[in-house]
Amino acid sequence: MAATKGAPDLYSSFLSTGAGAFIAKQAGLPQPEKLRRYKAGEPPLAGPVLLGGNGRLVEPIRELLSDYEFAADGSEGTKFGALVFDATGIENVSQLDELYKFFQPVIRNLAPSARVVVLGTTPDETSTVDAHIAQRALEGFTRSVAKEVQRGATAQLVYVSPDAATGLSGLESTLRFLLSAKSAFVDGQVIRVGAAESTAPASWDRPLEGKVAVVTGAARGIGATIAEVLSRDGAHVICADIPQAGEALSQTANKVGGTSLALDVTAADAADVLAEHILSRHGGADIIVHNAGITRDKTLANMDDGRWNSVINVNLLAPQRITDVLIEKGALKEGGRVVDVSSIAGIAGNRGQTNYGTSKAGVIGLVNASAPVLAKKGITINAVAPGFIETAMTAAIPFATREAGRRLSSLLQGGETVDVAETIAYFASPASNAVTGNVVRVCGQSLLGA
Ligand code: NAD
Repeated sequence: MAATKGAPDLYSSFLSTGAGAFIAKQAGLPQPEKLRRYKAGEPPLAGPVLLGGNGRLVEPIRELLSDYEFAADGSEGTKFGALVFDATGIENVSQLDELYKFFQPVIRNLAPSARVVVLGTTPDETSTVDAHIAQRALEGFTRSVAKEVQRGATAQLVYVSPDAATGLSGLESTLRFLLSAKSAFVDGQVIRVGAAESTAPASWDRPLEGKVAVVTGAARGIGATIAEVLSRDGAHVICADIPQAGEALSQTANKVGGTSLALDVTAADAADVLAEHILSRHGGADIIVHNAGITRDKTLANMDDGRWNSVINVNLLAPQRITDVLIEKGALKEGGRVVDVSSIAGIAGNRGQTNYGTSKAGVIGLVNASAPVLAKKGITINAVAPGFIETAMTAAIPFATREAGRRLSSLLQGGETVDVAETIAYFASPASNAVTGNVVRVCGQSLLGA
């Protein structure tokens, strides 16, 4: 995968020397762990899974993940690759101590980059007030655990619809993503999985075999890596970017064996041109990733029309318009996948980014409002909200702010473009048809907007 072209992380390089690690430890400085990331052929986790809880999910999970190694019990000495707890059986507040009883004895025994996954029932879909309260409480538990676990470990909460069929096939893609090195920089997140059943792909390593994907802003940065990861997973990728990005765009397209398309997403005819390209060459696309995005920072007092309008147009209006037209013209197939790119600035707000924060918060509104409408055509829509990702965009941030952005997170480091791309690939999978209307932050549990 392409190396991330951000500014060098001098602090992490310093820590990787023996003397640096010693000094940092003595001084009580934060010590970021080198995160385990996906490599074909490597096991998904660095140790066995300890599965607990007594809800409706625990036995189906053991069957779904029959290729995973499960630990028989929490015996001392085992370093667990993951702790998975089915909390759907918790029906009232007094039963919340089941979390404490399962996790407390084993929480120290985690392998590097281990995973903690708590599974609950979507609170709005519970049948009693007591169950709603108890299930909602899982969020505070999981986010706090995420802040406590160390050495690259992460913790997530998955809410599963009470109507999900017994086999839980719709949950499998989410579990496999979270219980793998692909979710390295996703931390402290809540994902909602609906009731739909799914068909497992022939290979979990090539879930996008035979699919056609469009990635906007694919010439460089996160977009180029999205194109690489979708292609690795089997998709033919149409790489789109502005005409000025020509050479870099061709390089991405060549690298992934895809097609390049010069396209300014804000052009009046952009959606029609894209639809025509897709229909004439492929008969339809399965996936559209709206990654193209810009910043034009100024405080509101210094803002001008040009900066305001260009950011709203590229980041928010273009994704909305293009999705609408592709669906209207049948260029995005029924059962398709729409993935938008928001930002933690759209959740927390950011000084000097009223335009950007507005656009990226609007993207969240777009996902929320569109999910139920698109569901009628079997189309899902989700967004990633990246935090500090090492790219040309973040390399341009002044040193002190950049350093704060990297360290003020549970994982104490910036993410890589591949971390965003892996999350997008999870949404894009045909097996993720039960996953819609979600916004997943890829931010190492950044304190911003947490
Ligand atoms: P980047 O500037 O490196 O790449 C963006 C790409 O989009 C470029 O190739 C650019 O030419 C293209 N683009 C811009 N305007 C376009 C237009 N009108 N039509 C078509 N293509 C256009 O940025 P990046 O860091 O890779 O960011 C990618 C996405 O991730 C953006 O939506 C950004 O807002 C979002 N994001 C990035 C970070 C981060 O830390 N880098 C954090 C949060 C969100």
